[in-house]
Amino acid sequence: MSEQYICIGCGVKIQTENKDEIGYAPKSSLEKEDIVCQRCFRLKHYNEVQDVNLTDDDFLKILNELGKRDALIVKIVDIFDFNGSWLPGLHRFVGNNPILLIGNKVDLLPASVKPNKLIHWMKQESKELGLKPKEVFLVSAAKGYFVKEVTEAIEEYREGKDVYVVGCTNVGKSTFINRILKEVTGEGDVITTSHFPGTTLDMIEIPLSDGKSLVDTPGIINHHQMAHYVDKRDLKIITPKKEIKPKVYQLNEGQTLFFGGLARFDYISGGRRSFVCHFSNELEIHRTKLEKADDLYERHVGEMLTPPRQEQLDTFPPLVKHEFTIKEGKTDVVFSGLGWITVNEPGAKIAAYVPKGVHAMLRKSLI
Ligand code: GDP
Repeated sequence: MSEQYICIGCGVKIQTENKDEIGYAPKSSLEKEDIVCQRCFRLKHYNEVQDVNLTDDDFLKILNELGKRDALIVKIVDIFDFNGSWLPGLHRFVGNNPILLIGNKVDLLPASVKPNKLIHWMKQESKELGLKPKEVFLVSAAKGYFVKEVTEAIEEYREGKDVYVVGCTNVGKSTFINRILKEVTGEGDVITTSHFPGTTLDMIEIPLSDGKSLVDTPGIINHHQMAHYVDKRDLKIITPKKEIKPKVYQLNEGQTLFFGGLARFDYISGGRRSFVCHFSNELEIHRTKLEKADDLYERHVGEMLTPPRQEQLDTFPPLVKHEFTIKEGKTDVVFSGLGWITVNEPGAKIAAYVPKGVHAMLRKSLI
């Protein structure tokens, strides 16, 4: 493409190479007078927002932009991967703008997780991470649970201002906005995009009834997300589709569990006890002896211990060991983006292994 084209909807530079990247439009559209990117096209004609992903640099630009606006910020995280889907640094940029924190995918949690406890935990955790949301909500964008309540809260807290929806990729931001749109505009209404003054950050503006806008910002790629290390075809294995069924393992000291080939849990010492595993129902768990675990992994990763796939092994990061002693009862050992193991009694010495770059941590149990 020698000439530079700009989308009349959001101002992004048009490219015709990659459908999943920002600014994509099919080649044929370049012949038209008013060119719109695929994302704006979908919004205009189908009333639907579409994912696009951003690099870290672009993310910083967006954060800077948010700080300059007088707006309500709606931040979405995936409650199944709270820390992995957190957007670090947001609090340093938002200035005095109010924030609502939305934990999406509540439909996946086992029934034993109490929503109020989780909300309380999210508030605590946000505070520690430097963010002070006005309110915290749990929703299921996919099922529509609590979307009405959140829509009302957005209306209340925005006080006539614009609304910016931010979140990293895969938290369900598009699903959420599409739900809100139905709530606000009614199913059949066609909305239009309009040019966003002074920026080409491809945020798209969805007009609200009072002349203000709901702004969809691109999804940010968070490199700590487990999802980046898994083949696209295997995402359905690690991403739960239904309520998680906890699986209880009675382990002796010196036993190991493998979660596919993506994570490993060593029970080092603390006497025979039970461990409650919360992972996607589709992810296979293998039990073995700790002394045999290294060898088993080496021989079987990519086949019995999968994902990852055989053909990914060259690029798949090594598993890194994180050792912990469980000091309090009811502690979760979290494998970011994959799941967690609840340990009921204190005193166990354990090790959690995750691909290099992904977080493993302890937290007070959600149950
Ligand atoms: P985005 O990248 O943040 O815009 O995320 P999407 O809206 O594309 O959703 C990412 C994935 O999460 C998709 O597979 C959705 O089906 C799924 N998803 C979104 N919302 C929910 C939800 O409330 N519950 C469940 N179980 N899955 C969801």
